[in-house]
Parts: sequence; C-alpha cells; structure tokens
Amino acid sequence: MGKVFIVSACLAGFNCKYNGGNNLLEPVYELFRRGKAIPLCPEQLGGLPTPRSPSKIRGGDGMDVLSGEARVLALETGEDVTQMFIRGAFEMLKAAEALNPVACIMKERSPSCGVNSVYRFDSDELREGMGVASALLSSKGYKIISSDNVEQILKYLAEIE
Ligand code: SF4
Repeated sequence: MGKVFIVSACLAGFNCKYNGGNNLLEPVYELFRRGKAIPLCPEQLGGLPTPRSPSKIRGGDGMDVLSGEARVLALETGEDVTQMFIRGAFEMLKAAEALNPVACIMKERSPSCGVNSVYRFDSDELREGMGVASALLSSKGYKIISSDNVEQILKYLAEIE
C-alpha cells in the first residue's frame, strides 16, 4: 500500500464524535480521499455508541489510564467507561501493527486521541498529556502527530505521490 496514515476518523469527516458531529480537517480528508489514510475512531471501536456522553480522564492522562492509575468517566451519566477506552486503544494498536503507518494523525485534546493535552476532569482547563489511544500507540513506538500540527500534515500530503 505504500505510505499510509492512521487518522482519527472524525478528522476525515466521519460523524463519530460524541455529539454525532465531526472535526473535519481538510488535509486529513485529502489524505483519505487519495487512499492514504485509514480513519478509525477508538471510542467506537471500544464499543461506545454515537452519540454518547462526552468523557474525561480523572486522575491523570491516557498513560495513567493504561497503568491503572486513572479512570475515564462519562460526564453525563457518571459511568466508568475506562474499559471501553482501553479496548478501543488496543483495537487502534491492532490496526497500527497491521499497517505500520508513517504516523498516526490524532485529534488534539480528546480523552482518546489527544496528543499534547487533554482536559482536566474538574474544569475546562487543559493539562499536558495524551489521550488513551494516542498514549498506547506512542508507547509502542508509533509516531503521533497532533491535528493542530497542520503544517506537518500538509508536508505529508505534499510528499505522497
Ligand atoms: Fe474523533 Fe478520536 Fe473522539 Fe473518535 S475518539 S470522535 S476519532 S477524537
């Protein structure tokens, strides 16, 4: 297949966001349209419905969730959705192992896909850290690119044939 990217599906325009919407980012959509991006949503892959309650990480970031020190909670219902988030992260890893992507382009600030920051549980403020899926992919050595790094995404787009 040549150079391929795994991308957060909402960036490619799929309506997998918690509120049933998407986070369409034009250069990611263009990678997808050219057959170079595989759009995946870890929260859907983990078994969560769409639409769904938004979730936040309590007690840390995605790395802390993976090590069992933090939990993911659905804000509207209070449901503990940690296992779904972890399951979704491992489904993403399965895809990465099969595809050996150049990079994974992930939606910034999401509790699953965040790259540089995620929301604090008790406020609207951000803290440094990755979402659960990005943390797992990163810990396995896959390159993770933030959706905020449009410059890099445009470079990738220019490099593909
Ligand atoms: Fe997008 Fe990731 Fe949230 Fe799915 S889990 S909607 S791919 S940010």
